[in-house]
Amino acid sequence: MTSLIDRWQGSMMENYATPGLALASGAGAVVVDEAGKPYLDLLGGIAVNALGHAHPAVVAAVTRQISTLGHVSNFYVAEPTIKLAELLLALAGRPGRVFFGNSGAEANEAAFKMSRLTGRTHVVASAGGFHGRTMGALALTGQPSKAAPFQPLPGSVTHVPYGDVDALRNAVTDETAMVILEPIQGEGGVLVPPAGYLTAAREITAGKGALLALDEVQTGIGRTGHWFAHQAEGVEPDIVTLAKGLGGGLPIGAVLAFGRAATLFQPGMHASTFGGNPVSCAAALAVIQTIANEGLLDHVKRVGERLRRGVEALGHPLIREVRGAGLLLGIVLDAPASGALTGVLRDAGFLVNAVAPHVVRLAPPLILTAEQADSFLAALPHALDTVTS
Ligand code: PMP
Repeated sequence: MTSLIDRWQGSMMENYATPGLALASGAGAVVVDEAGKPYLDLLGGIAVNALGHAHPAVVAAVTRQISTLGHVSNFYVAEPTIKLAELLLALAGRPGRVFFGNSGAEANEAAFKMSRLTGRTHVVASAGGFHGRTMGALALTGQPSKAAPFQPLPGSVTHVPYGDVDALRNAVTDETAMVILEPIQGEGGVLVPPAGYLTAAREITAGKGALLALDEVQTGIGRTGHWFAHQAEGVEPDIVTLAKGLGGGLPIGAVLAFGRAATLFQPGMHASTFGGNPVSCAAALAVIQTIANEGLLDHVKRVGERLRRGVEALGHPLIREVRGAGLLLGIVLDAPASGALTGVLRDAGFLVNAVAPHVVRLAPPLILTAEQADSFLAALPHALDTVTS
């Protein structure tokens, strides 16, 4: 029988890379491959499966919604969409307005377009930052190798070193429409900026009349133990973009806008056919309600800390440090061995990914149990030894 991966090569256009594994099913934080082998999913579909697979609350909400009313288009509205917008604004703790799309890139495209409506065109983003693969989102992305084949990209975007307040201060002028940053760079290698960086970014942008947009596509909706990672620092951005974990496995993207940013789009200026789809919104409502009802923000802090401390306590010579927050962690290696370690861990039944040559990323479902975290900690030393030997 031809494997799914061979069929992938025969039918799918090249995208990220040849898939390493063909999955058949999943429950909670465990996924099962075509051959029936289980894996602990410590990547969660790259920070997407907030509640893991087949969570009863998501299954029930999606089933109920698609059995009642599916897609409605931009000309009509349904309750789950409005309820989700209201709930997201309540989590942000400020009045504002929401735009729904279908992905992280689409949310950042919307933010990019909104920034043009300030009457300015210059944007400041960060080197190493990642905002998506569409042309506008790629222009914001600070990873030149990803952008190179597609130049010229739209816009006038300056990339400054991430976490460097002086560099940001020097780059932001009276012509800057928007500064866009991730609270923690995910694809850039799980990079945490120095404390106070977002506060400084807020102060710098406010001083020049520029919008501050925070891309919380990877860090938002509980991933770091807060609804939004920027809440740890108490900053108030003008724009927050969300996707990934918000939909609990269903496609959704959102732009939250506050203050003057909330009124930049005028009727007819921007839309997306599936944006605000009631089924995706029902899934997102179930995700948020479950995180709240089950106290998952505290759980994320506890299990995240257990994982971080556990990896540090191994004292393995290949491990330089563990960085990140909550359940977005980067295990930083002393050698460019993250690809090899990922492969060895996969064979041992643990899914992680190499986010940089030296960094292995963990972004498991927020429901990861302490026992599951411990099972990874128990398997890690042997995997590290295998890579080292
Ligand atoms: N922003 C950030 C911070 C991301 O991590 C990602 C995806 N890794 C995106 C945007 C793009 O999201 P999507 O793939 O849904 O377009």
